[in-house]
Amino acid sequence: MQPESIEPFFATLAKANPHPQSELQYSSVFELLAAVLLSAQATDVGVNKATRQLFALAPTPHKMLALGQDRLTELVRTIGLFRTKARNLLATCRILIEQHGGQVPRSRAALEALPGVGRKTANVVLNVAFGEPTMAVDTHVFRISNRTGLAPGRNPLQVEERLLQRVPAHYAVDAHHWLILHGRYVCLARAPRCAACAVRTWCDEGRAWAAKSAAGATAAPTMKPGTKQVNNDGEAG
Ligand code: SF4
Repeated sequence: MQPESIEPFFATLAKANPHPQSELQYSSVFELLAAVLLSAQATDVGVNKATRQLFALAPTPHKMLALGQDRLTELVRTIGLFRTKARNLLATCRILIEQHGGQVPRSRAALEALPGVGRKTANVVLNVAFGEPTMAVDTHVFRISNRTGLAPGRNPLQVEERLLQRVPAHYAVDAHHWLILHGRYVCLARAPRCAACAVRTWCDEGRAWAAKSAAGATAAPTMKPGTKQVNNDGEAG
């Protein structure tokens, strides 16, 4: 993607959705942290289904810890990797209580020291809860960054670093939300909807699609050779 295309690319996404939000449901920073921790390799819809009851019973680290391993495991058993996630969530609650006065810390180092919290989860919490211009690279952000040429990279960290370099400051706080939502509803993994895509003009693959389309071939773009798909937490590669 040419540097001059980045501004109109984001301006178009921003115009369509001026206040993008996470689709995870939460009502406190602790619930956000718990929901993101539970969301690795799971859909937001599936996580929301489980956390509705979980957060009603345990909206704080103390109450979550009081549930105990067996009860918590039962409550999140519909979410992938639920046993490990339940164990990590309880261990995280213990640290929040013992080291952070029951609050979610605002520092990246302290967040990443929590069990089950990796770079992507820390980026989401820093961005959504604290308004910091971080770039959480999940499978959607990774795919779109490569397809569009906005921030090509072979792994989530490379993509994150390029996004931090290339996204204009005035779009930085909302950028990862726009990219996630665009990936979820338009730039789909297997069949991107280039024909209906509002940012096609500035997208590398979109322009290639348009040229092929004009020539009579309408094959959808695929991942470029050398890039690999990442799972939904964007951290395991
Ligand atoms: S033009 Fe196609 S490949 Fe580019 S962002 Fe839109 S849907 Fe994705």
